[in-house]
Amino acid sequence: MSKQLHEAFIGRIQGQFADADKFLSAIEQTPYYSVRQNVAKRTDMGLPIGKPVPWCPDAYYLCERPNYTLNPLFHAGAFYPQEASSMYLWHVLSSVSEHLPQDPIVLDLCAAPGGKTTLLASYFGGRGVLVANEVVRNRAWILRENIAKWGCPNALVTNAEPARFGAEGAMFDLLVIDAPCSGEGMFRKDDVAVAEWTPENAAMCAARQRTIIADVWDAVVEGGVVIYSTCTFNPEENERNMQWIDSEYDVEFLRIPVVPQSCVTVVPFAQGEGYGFYPHKVEGEGFFICAMRKLSGRYRKPAKDKQKTTKATVPINCLKEQSSYDFYNIENKIVALPRQQSALMLRIANSYKSMLCGIETGEFIRKDFIPSAMLPLSAAFAADSYPTAELTADEALHYLRGEWTATQPLAQGWNVVGFNGCRLGFAKAVGNRVNNYYPKEWRIKMKI
Ligand code: SAM
Repeated sequence: MSKQLHEAFIGRIQGQFADADKFLSAIEQTPYYSVRQNVAKRTDMGLPIGKPVPWCPDAYYLCERPNYTLNPLFHAGAFYPQEASSMYLWHVLSSVSEHLPQDPIVLDLCAAPGGKTTLLASYFGGRGVLVANEVVRNRAWILRENIAKWGCPNALVTNAEPARFGAEGAMFDLLVIDAPCSGEGMFRKDDVAVAEWTPENAAMCAARQRTIIADVWDAVVEGGVVIYSTCTFNPEENERNMQWIDSEYDVEFLRIPVVPQSCVTVVPFAQGEGYGFYPHKVEGEGFFICAMRKLSGRYRKPAKDKQKTTKATVPINCLKEQSSYDFYNIENKIVALPRQQSALMLRIANSYKSMLCGIETGEFIRKDFIPSAMLPLSAAFAADSYPTAELTADEALHYLRGEWTATQPLAQGWNVVGFNGCRLGFAKAVGNRVNNYYPKEWRIKMKI
């Protein structure tokens, strides 16, 4: 059955594209599915892998849509299902790298569920500091889970309004605004986006995007890079908003060479260009991306860190190169922060009451050290710090559902359980009993 597209949407597309018929019939076609592999956890992903995505390393189209929930490696953070067009961010980052310092301070402002953040984490590979922010609280918890599973030692997760960042003063070398939008680019995949589309809603999205940009603008340092993206075709939310930025701020739009044969469309506007991903041209869903440099702006001195965070120690060598980390007690959790970045990460954690900062290693309950579920998921985890029990796929899924009973003998005490060489979490053997320490909120709810 064909999609019930709003007639105002059809009318606008007919005015916008000379080949609107091709565009509209492409929206009816089967969507593309793709994943990006976590190179820190390289394994056979157990997916129907097809050809590589040409503009992003370690990314592949899938030959069919798998059930990710039933793949234990998804829960291990071995890959992230991400829409191929969105992965163009990698190419944009490579193209603007000359404008970024070696160790950039990065803000991913609208970050949940974490597709762009995990890409940024892989791209910068532990350099600098990465702040993943999501304003909607329950979505921020999902973001936290995905970042923890991806395992990045230099990332924080925050849950703040964009204006909070603007008010704190210029700090970020790179700001990514993957703005909430009218979602036209998702029409092929998402019938709810089709049903919810109205011209009024699209106009509201464009206005909200301008508010977000204005609220956060002061958080970017002079010379810093801003990357703006949406998953819509709506010019009001894309190139017109870029023109609005030009009218309000001192910016230089950056030209990004189009990846050959990608069929990405240059979207020109008076002062620069953005890049459009259209369903009848690109192997991916609808997307728009544009990069710019902030040339000058208001400078506010960043606020001083008022809070004292206490140093802590962990009773076990749980990280590779443990001596290059500082350990702190944040909200009773012992976190490991890469020493080079620790002062800045602490300052951000304190200012924004972060929901995650660095690697959560564990906590003391009375005198016992209870390791965190996040610890073995970290790329920095020392694999020999706890005994590991390798499970079958079926056992792993039962473990992830919280209903696994060990069939093999486990070492007494804490064990890491894993599948296909990737770690999933902890279990503790006490006598003949095995306690499952996979967090309740992460457990698979689906019947297996
Ligand atoms: N970057 C994410 C990714 O790659 O997985 C997708 C982000 S989604 C397109 C936009 C996000 O902006 C949503 O998570 C939404 O909750 C958030 N959002 C909604 N209203 C917002 C606002 N007023 N300010 C900032 N973010 C907002």
